[in-house]
Amino acid sequence: MSTPLIGGKTLQEWLADNPLLRDLVSLNEVSWFNPATVPFKLAMQGMELTDSDVADAAARLERFRPYIAKVFPETRNAGGLIESPLQDVPAFQRTLSERFSRGLPGRLLAKLDSHLPISGSIKARGGIYEGLKHAEELALGAGLLTLTDDYSRLDSKEFRAFFSRYAIAVGSTGNLGLSIGIMGAQLGFRVSVHMSADARQWKKDLLRSKGVNVVEYASDYSLAVAEGRKQSAGDPSCYFVDDENSVNLFLGYAVAAQRLKQQLDEQGIVVDAEHPLVVYLPCGVGGGPGGVAFGLKLIFKDQVHCLFAEPTHSPAMLLGLYTGLHDGVSVQDFGIDNITDADGLAVGRPSGFVGRTMHGMLDGVFTVQDENMYRYLALMADTEGLRLEPSALAGAPGIARVSRAQDWLKERGLVENMPNAAHIIWCTGGSMVPQPEMENYYRTGKSLLGD
Ligand SMILES: *Cc1c(COP(=O)(O)O)cnc(C)c1O
Repeated sequence: MSTPLIGGKTLQEWLADNPLLRDLVSLNEVSWFNPATVPFKLAMQGMELTDSDVADAAARLERFRPYIAKVFPETRNAGGLIESPLQDVPAFQRTLSERFSRGLPGRLLAKLDSHLPISGSIKARGGIYEGLKHAEELALGAGLLTLTDDYSRLDSKEFRAFFSRYAIAVGSTGNLGLSIGIMGAQLGFRVSVHMSADARQWKKDLLRSKGVNVVEYASDYSLAVAEGRKQSAGDPSCYFVDDENSVNLFLGYAVAAQRLKQQLDEQGIVVDAEHPLVVYLPCGVGGGPGGVAFGLKLIFKDQVHCLFAEPTHSPAMLLGLYTGLHDGVSVQDFGIDNITDADGLAVGRPSGFVGRTMHGMLDGVFTVQDENMYRYLALMADTEGLRLEPSALAGAPGIARVSRAQDWLKERGLVENMPNAAHIIWCTGGSMVPQPEMENYYRTGKSLLGD
């Protein structure tokens, strides 16, 4: 029997040459700074997606605001804008500083996608956007809608009957299914969500209560996606939301950047050559953090530094970028089990599209143990009163990882400017987690802290 090869090399050969891979396989926390990062201008050469694609997505979300405001009352005050708060977390920063026994210069903020309306996670950006885009295309194509209409018209028996002739399907670890399911069902589509084994029961129950067809698998995310894709391919009326390759999802996420820019302006936070912005984004398959980071690079160019955070048991994007094999490698190839409590991050094989798009723009990836996510979860609750789910805390140690990466800071010319930096932990989910489940998360964190 021959040993299976990974990109032409045996596992032993990979490990012999690479201390970083040995750490990954040993499930140690690592911080990797990307040697392929180039100035923004260079990174954009030959790039197919540009500002105008993101502007197009933003304009589409604008058109849908009257509809969103009408069917999701929690968005009414914001006029149908699906957006989350940005807030300082100084007490959490002090606690982190004590835990890491080092000064953590700069201003630490949390972007609370945990509190996004409709589905309570970052997926309320990309997932809802893609559902809306599909609905718009169908309605425009059938001559039922024009771009200048008041889209609240879509909330009618006539439109729901029209959309019920079509199906939407998606494979998900839970949160994307929640967004697509809630939005799709509201519009009138027949929706199937193919859920991986790690998806939580409450998400399946919630979706079923909205008439969504939930298909459960005993396997992980990649297989749930593959099955969903296969079943949809046989049905011409079915639109498959392809989390691993979707440009639409990516652009829906990217719109977050211009909204963040506005919030920074409102809060008087300057981003320029002397005031860098550093953003820490939890990464699953890559579309969410990739889209947000791409949008941020378009606006802030070389003045923003984006890092992804992954569980030590699911470092898919890090493996894909580091080996250069992207979706040609999985964590399982390296004997890593892809089992984590961090919802949305249990992804063994990264998006090749996102890896290739981001490889010259991303500053790095770091990994975090589940136990530490729980610890940060409890600390965030105690210091700032914010109740988040474990994955939302994956970015929490980012400021400490960056602060001690002296070589990288020097290389990027950031040493002098770190005290002026704004650091944003992108908190990706939590507000829809049922109370008893949240209580368990919190207690797990407290006991790990020894409290
Ligand atoms: C999906 C998800 C992510 C990561 O998004 P990807 O597009 O899968 O990389 C992060 N946090 C939460 C809570 C999520 O649901």
